[in-house]
Amino acid sequence: TKKKLSGQVAIVTGASSGIGAGVAKALAQAGAAVVVNYSSSPDKAEAVLTDIKSNGGEGFTIRADVSKEQDVLNMFAETFKRYKTVDILINNAGLQKDSKFHEMTLEEWNRVMDINLTGQFLCAREAIKEFLRRGIDETKSLSAGKIICMSSVHEVIPWAGHANYSASKGGVMMLMKSIAQEYAPQKIRVNSIGPGAIRTPINHAAWQTPAAYNNLLKLIPSKRIGEVEDIGRAAVWLASDDSEYVNGITLFVDGGMLLYPGFEDNG
Ligand code: NAD
Repeated sequence: TKKKLSGQVAIVTGASSGIGAGVAKALAQAGAAVVVNYSSSPDKAEAVLTDIKSNGGEGFTIRADVSKEQDVLNMFAETFKRYKTVDILINNAGLQKDSKFHEMTLEEWNRVMDINLTGQFLCAREAIKEFLRRGIDETKSLSAGKIICMSSVHEVIPWAGHANYSASKGGVMMLMKSIAQEYAPQKIRVNSIGPGAIRTPINHAAWQTPAAYNNLLKLIPSKRIGEVEDIGRAAVWLASDDSEYVNGITLFVDGGMLLYPGFEDNG
């Protein structure tokens, strides 16, 4: 049987670790050729590609800092050179630079905005250009292209000590919705995934000791941390024709973190 994403090409930013690596593997398993982007860890990116290939998938690794316009242009140019086009963009690269707000430096603010928000703008713009040029190829998909933005439950939940991060994800939400509205008539689909707490290096302090983990579970009605495979399955669904009529949403994958868990045992 034909795989859901066979014949399609996906760029996954920040794919050398965590959620990006998990999503890259899941898309490859679903039949897509995957461009494994990294900014500073070629070895980890190669390991992700090796895993993809050992499971019968294909792709290549490429260095690009998503906050740098020329790097992004080069990454798309190389993708077109190898695979002619791109069908799926996973705007995943992101980081935290945590600080009390009154002590936050402009550098900490700008770095998070540059990567988490401007990086998504730059990659989405190049993807949209290509989707408009190519249009729909019905042999591959009913959509002219798909963009999936990695947002967070913090596009909704305020986060003390992380004002730059939550502001960047709030920005991602309106960036995603505005692009979705602008290009829906061309059958381009733009959606977000809003992870809750997923076990990755970004939040290791929240799960690596039993005490920290038990504390984290107070925020998660489903009473387990999320795994990157939970996000991988959501990404495959949003990238595939199974979600063809879904546009401009954030799909929260959070074990119920948005359900005001403080009210669980509140009488
Ligand atoms: P991670 O630190 O494992 O992965 C982040 C990746 O982004 C890394 O591979 C890093 O190298 C890459 N990156 C950083 N700056 C980059 C740049 N300038 N250019 C290209 N790549 C760059 O963390 P993760 O948890 O896998 O995070 C992935 C995404 O998921 C982020 O956008 C994060 O905000 C989001 N997210 C994560 C969680 C969670 O609980 N882990 C929750 C909500 C949202």
